[in-house]
Amino acid sequence: MQTSLAAFEPIADHVFVAVAEPASVNIGLVVGRDAALVIDTGSSPAQGAAIRRAAEAAAGVPVRAVLVTHWHWDHFFGLAGFDGVPSYGHRTLTDWLRSDGLAASAAEAGVPVTALTAPTHPFTLARVIDLGDRRVELVHFGRGHSDGDTVAVVPDADVIFAGDLLEESGPPAFGPDCYPKEWPSAVDGILGLVNEHTILVPGHGRTIDRMYAFDQRARISGLYGQAEHLARRGVKLADAYAAGEWPFPEEVVHEALPIIYEQLAADGIHPGRTIPLL
Ligand SMILES: [Zn+2]
Repeated sequence: MQTSLAAFEPIADHVFVAVAEPASVNIGLVVGRDAALVIDTGSSPAQGAAIRRAAEAAAGVPVRAVLVTHWHWDHFFGLAGFDGVPSYGHRTLTDWLRSDGLAASAAEAGVPVTALTAPTHPFTLARVIDLGDRRVELVHFGRGHSDGDTVAVVPDADVIFAGDLLEESGPPAFGPDCYPKEWPSAVDGILGLVNEHTILVPGHGRTIDRMYAFDQRARISGLYGQAEHLARRGVKLADAYAAGEWPFPEEVVHEALPIIYEQLAADGIHPGRTIPLL
């Protein structure tokens, strides 16, 4: 896997973003008087170490905390490069390192499973990181893009790092491990904290504002609502795309529909077994 890291660019007072390839992940850097926080770690331990070096050079103070926003390889697999730094992430990161899916994900990223490490400070709901003269709040607003998305809020700079709950370089990623029904309410947690000046940093792509986030939230909600409506009307998965009007491109809808139908089935909603409502 070919990795590279662009320079940390300022987006607010002592808040920076650098883009890590190959997945164009936004790596955040929040600098305080005494210490710095890095947000997301890149795709491999070597890239994680490179991010740490670049962050300390840009910050001028040591990196004393690192957050992994969720357990996808492009955000998580660099964590071992932060050896000795207290690390934070939702407790599902630790579960993922013990899960059946890990080996395939590691093989895909070209990283040995033994090179991966869990956060030293896993949490369920929230943590505060003290950087000396400023605080960063880490919050899990519920399941959405994954089961363990964490958002980093920098109140004094009015910046929020949203992880992959929000995307700018393309539509949100509806992977097999996402929760489309709950995703809008996780985004509502973010929206409850924003004003017209807030800078939102998506997992991938350029920074966005609250109107962009409101729109994307509405699209995610619209996709889910349309799919549930069709399933409840008795429209089977194979016919669902043609039967609906969708707020995302076709390939995104085809990615999301099987997940939504499967999760509806788990809730007892089976379109083949309901009476169609006309
Ligand atoms: Zn992701």
